[in-house]
Amino acid sequence: MMDARGWRPSLATKLRLTAWLSLLTVSLVCGGAVLGTRRYADAAQNAFDDGFEILRVAASLDIALQRARDIVLTAKPNAPASNAPASNALRAEFAGNVSGLQDMVGRVAARPFLSTIAMAQHAAVIAAIVRLERIGMVILEQGRSPDRRTVFETEADGLADKLRTWRMLMLDTTVTMEQASRARARTVLLWTGLFCVAAWGAGVVALTVIGGALRRFGRITIAMLRLARHDRVLSLPSLDDPDEVGDMARAIAIFRETAEEATRRGAQLEIANRMLDAALNSMGQGLLMLDSQQRLLISNRQYRALFGLPSELLHAGMPAQELLALSRAAGNFANRDPTAVERHITDWLASDRPQIEQITVGNGRVVIINRVPMADGGWVCTYDDVTERNRTIARVAHLARHDVLTDLPNRRALLDALRQEDNLGSRRHGYTVHCINLDRFKLINDTLGYAVGDAILCEVARRLRAIVRENDLPARLGSDDFAVVQSDGDTPDKAIALAARLVSQLSLPYVIDGAEVLIGASVGVAAAGPDGDADGLLRNADLALYHAKQAGGGGWQIFAPEMDVAAQSRRTLERDLRLALPNGQFELYYQPLISVTQRRVKSFEALLRWRHPTRGLIAPDAFIPLAEELGLIVPIGEWVLRTACAEAMEWPEPVSVAVNLSPVQFGQRTATGDIAEQIEAALRDTGLTADRLELEITESVLLQESDSNVAALHRLRALGVRISLDDFGTGYSSLRYLRSFPFDKLKIDKSFVRELTESDEAGTIVRAIAGLGASLGIATTAEGVETLQQLEQLIADGCTEVQGYFFSPPRPAGEVPRLLAEGAMRRAA
Ligand code: C2E
Ligand code: CA
Ligand code: CA
Repeated sequence: MMDARGWRPSLATKLRLTAWLSLLTVSLVCGGAVLGTRRYADAAQNAFDDGFEILRVAASLDIALQRARDIVLTAKPNAPASNAPASNALRAEFAGNVSGLQDMVGRVAARPFLSTIAMAQHAAVIAAIVRLERIGMVILEQGRSPDRRTVFETEADGLADKLRTWRMLMLDTTVTMEQASRARARTVLLWTGLFCVAAWGAGVVALTVIGGALRRFGRITIAMLRLARHDRVLSLPSLDDPDEVGDMARAIAIFRETAEEATRRGAQLEIANRMLDAALNSMGQGLLMLDSQQRLLISNRQYRALFGLPSELLHAGMPAQELLALSRAAGNFANRDPTAVERHITDWLASDRPQIEQITVGNGRVVIINRVPMADGGWVCTYDDVTERNRTIARVAHLARHDVLTDLPNRRALLDALRQEDNLGSRRHGYTVHCINLDRFKLINDTLGYAVGDAILCEVARRLRAIVRENDLPARLGSDDFAVVQSDGDTPDKAIALAARLVSQLSLPYVIDGAEVLIGASVGVAAAGPDGDADGLLRNADLALYHAKQAGGGGWQIFAPEMDVAAQSRRTLERDLRLALPNGQFELYYQPLISVTQRRVKSFEALLRWRHPTRGLIAPDAFIPLAEELGLIVPIGEWVLRTACAEAMEWPEPVSVAVNLSPVQFGQRTATGDIAEQIEAALRDTGLTADRLELEITESVLLQESDSNVAALHRLRALGVRISLDDFGTGYSSLRYLRSFPFDKLKIDKSFVRELTESDEAGTIVRAIAGLGASLGIATTAEGVETLQQLEQLIADGCTEVQGYFFSPPRPAGEVPRLLAEGAMRRAA
């Protein structure tokens, strides 16, 4: 058998071999033709030889015939009568001659090329010889009679004629034969020559064509090789050729385009792959993809990190179960039953529905797995590490229900707890809510700062936790408001005991930064009734607290239904107050301030009145605190300012107007702007000059937000407005405030004036204040002067201005002219 890997001729070799074989065949054919030609030439030669033989035979024939004639005619067997038989020798010679004739003719006749005519002629010659023999033999045996002689001679002449004709025919035939053979040989030679020339020509042309084609194939092959090696092939050979090579080149051109396109696509795919890789590994989630055979397709870095799987152990195509084994080896699912885990995974892989599951992995992190089946039966699984999120949610949830500063449960947590108790029906066992508010806490905050305030609040929380029992719930409701839900407060005794303990414990001194701080606590207690909700319970405890505060603080109050009535009326007042300004129910009353030295009305203090549609005229003390609490004092205060300025414009100069400002007005803005802008606008809009406006503020303005408020006061002073410190002496560190702002006037609180004649202490204070005013070079006004005695004393003590019922109570604006006139009259008197 031939070795398949043995010699394998190239196509070119095969083609060349074929061409050479063709040439060889042609040569063989030519050789054959030459041989054939020779055969024809030989035939011609034979024919020529035959003709020669015939000529030779014919000569012999003539001789033989002459001899036979001589034998018969010249023999003298019985001469003169020559009818004696001839001798035996003569007869034998004659017979020999005649048979020689027959032989010679027969020999020529045996030649293969004799024609039918020649054969017929031949037969006639043979017959004539036979007849001559017969008559000759008769003569030789019986003697030559004249008749016989004549017959013989006639026969001999006839034979001689026939032999001549025969000879001519034979010669003709051989000549024709010879010429025909030569002609055939020439023709064969000519055609063979032509054929050879044509075949050779065709062979050479074929070789040339094959060579050309092979060269073109060679060029294309080189181009294809370069293409295969991704070399850049700029021009392809034979592209425009209209033949098969051209077709091939065009096919290669198409292939090249396809290949280039594929290369481009490959490059794009490469980029896309890299992008996919980057995306996969930079996404926050872990990602795993399984194919329909549950074998790993891809996993990203986050996935491997989450499960602690080294990337070198993971490879595409590994079965999911193997992955699970790796994961378990890495310490995941350590606390779960391995068979259960395996079953769970198997169940998942067998299903075709999306699944969400939360698990805890080996490193304790909480992961949410989201498995989504793919259309082809595989899976896309994402892994969210929600540990931080869960912690944050827990933290936010804690924050939502706890106070940031003290970490006590906040109001919402407390209300939820109360509602839960309600739902549980534990109200039957009875529980009590204690609302706690710190006394004087605001002052601590204002004077010692928020840091100290915060420290106290934290300490309060600590104490609350220590005071309450395990089942009780302490909470911080807001600023200095706390609460405790007493779970076993089913009897008043127990509730009172806790309330008392709260008050006493929270009132113990607080040591902050080495300094002792004293504050008190007030407690309001409400017990859960058979009906009523959590909010109602808290509200009741709050009301009780309110009453405890009203009672001066430092104690506790138990809720009583009457308290609710008071609260109701407060709510009604609040509702009415909100409508008072839009409904134009406010009025200003004016009370004169009299200069002691000039003995004349220097100014009027504007005092607010509320003309309530059903309750009549209400004094400011009854609603201003509420208005401040609700923030309503801000628009009301602006209205007072504008009204006072407008009405003062009716008064003769230089009588001025004094307007009270609430501390709340300082912190807040109206549509006009802040307090300074409101005053500027009031002056501008009414036309009152600034020197005719006095503003009365209390120390509390300087207590809160002191820096910005002092700045606001300076801006007011810059407008030219005068500023008085009202209710002086009732506050705390009065002297400090005197330093912080240069007031134009001090108004001694009416409580000192009232006690003036009864207590020496009050007189001392009044004298001290008047002296202070004198030394600062500012006016001192005593308010609440009701008697002449008081007036005289105040004048003696050095007050420069007085105000009070002794001169006039506050009166409506319309009475100002009368009051001015009376003042003038009294001065005259
Ligand atoms: P205040 O600024 O100390 O005003 C003086 C208060 O003492 C007025 O009470 C006045 O009627 C009263 N009074 C005057 N003379 C005497 C007297 O001889 N004997 C007695 N016993 N009282 C006298 P009123 O008008 O009820 O005002 C009470 C407080 O309401 C004012 O005290 C002031 O703090 C506040 N207030 C009044 N109007 C306004 C206002 O427009 N804005 C603000 N923010 N507060 C106002
Ligand atoms: Ca006042
Ligand atoms: Ca006052």
